[in-house]
This record gives sequence, structure tokens and C-alpha cells, in this order.
Amino acid sequence: MKARAAEAPHNLPRGRNAGSWISDLVTLGKALTLCSSCWPKFNFKRYGYQPTVLTATSKHVIGDCDGCRERLQRCTLFVKQL
Ligand SMILES: [Zn+2]
Repeated sequence: MKARAAEAPHNLPRGRNAGSWISDLVTLGKALTLCSSCWPKFNFKRYGYQPTVLTATSKHVIGDCDGCRERLQRCTLFVKQL
């Protein structure tokens, strides 16, 4: 990993708005992590995504929100259904 990438606060490139960034991730079929403020704005059924639970103890994951760029939030993981 390059040092510059390690210092980047988030994987969202500068100058990109959240909608276009999420649209790119959806087009590529990538998994999304969205916080409780952002996920109601994402029409996951329209794009073939489903909220995914990884563990029996929590229905959330801890990660950086792909929508608002907040770090280490309790997020819902959305995975593209095949
Ligand atoms: Zn968010």
C-alpha cells in the first residue's frame, strides 16, 4: 500500500459527491456500507442490493460510510444479490 493511500481519510475521491460515488460502486457491484442517516436515501431494491447481516450478535458493521464519509460509524452492509 502506498503511503499516500494510507493517509487518505476515506476512499471517496476529493471532488466527488456521494451520489456519483455510490452510483459508481453500484455499477461495479461493490458492497456498500451506509450509516443510519444515509441508508434510507439508498433505494437498495431498485439496484438489486440487500442489507446483509454478518454475525448473529449484531446487524451492523463498523466502517466508513460511503455516503457521508463519516469514519468508523455503525453502518448497514449492502451486498449486491446475484
Ligand atoms: Zn452516512
